[in-house]
Amino acid sequence: MNGPGLAGLDDAAIAALAAAGVERLHIDAASPYLLIAEHAGHVVPAPWHDLGLPGPYLGTHFAVDIGIDALTRRLSRMLRAPAVIAHYSRLFLDYNRPAGEWDFMRPDLGGIPVPGNVAPDATDVRLRKSIAWAPVEQAIVEAAAGRQALVSVHSFTPVMGGVRRNVDIGVLWREPSAFVTSVLKTLGAHGAEAGLRIGDNEPYDWRQAIGYTLNRHGLEQGRPCLYLEVRNDLLSDPETFELVSRTLETVFATVAMSLWPKPAVAV
Ligand SMILES: [Zn+2]
Repeated sequence: MNGPGLAGLDDAAIAALAAAGVERLHIDAASPYLLIAEHAGHVVPAPWHDLGLPGPYLGTHFAVDIGIDALTRRLSRMLRAPAVIAHYSRLFLDYNRPAGEWDFMRPDLGGIPVPGNVAPDATDVRLRKSIAWAPVEQAIVEAAAGRQALVSVHSFTPVMGGVRRNVDIGVLWREPSAFVTSVLKTLGAHGAEAGLRIGDNEPYDWRQAIGYTLNRHGLEQGRPCLYLEVRNDLLSDPETFELVSRTLETVFATVAMSLWPKPAVAV
């Protein structure tokens, strides 16, 4: 997208849009974890006019990880863990992609063009980075300091390319760590009890996928990390939302106690 509309945005307007793009929860909580939800939002900032798409597209998995805003808030509250939640749609800018990737600003939805993303000019790209990339980057850098492990929370569609995925919750990892091992083991046990099928680098394998968030803030910093992927139809139903939330709360609390036990209080 281009033209005088965007070039006319002044610094105050850009700052306001940037501030509205990211939310920090329980940021001072003494938790070993930082939760990150890069794909939680479906909002396109008003000057971009929904990127020229009919509104309903912004409610689909192309635009947002369905159910992840609610799940991340719930986990943050129950685990008393800080969380960084991005509000802008991954179609506006996908924070979890390196800037050079084709889907950093995805130009089409499986053959349906995204008009605003077909040929964004330099001003447009620079503005989006200021509004939807830099504030998320800064929030994560600040919130990750001193944390033991990062968990990036996502959801996936039950069917992909005509194939039904046979996983309910996936743990995606790239480098082994005691944290990853402990989550896989604990979630395997509690998931089985809850009737949830747990994937080890399924429904897709991070070692063969392109990401940004946890490469940058996890692996490159020597911080154990994983992407959590939850089947999105489970999050749309209140009963299974509850089941998934409780299972994950128990698992991450158990893992924290086992890996980072709080020192005994001196008396
Ligand atoms: Zn996602």
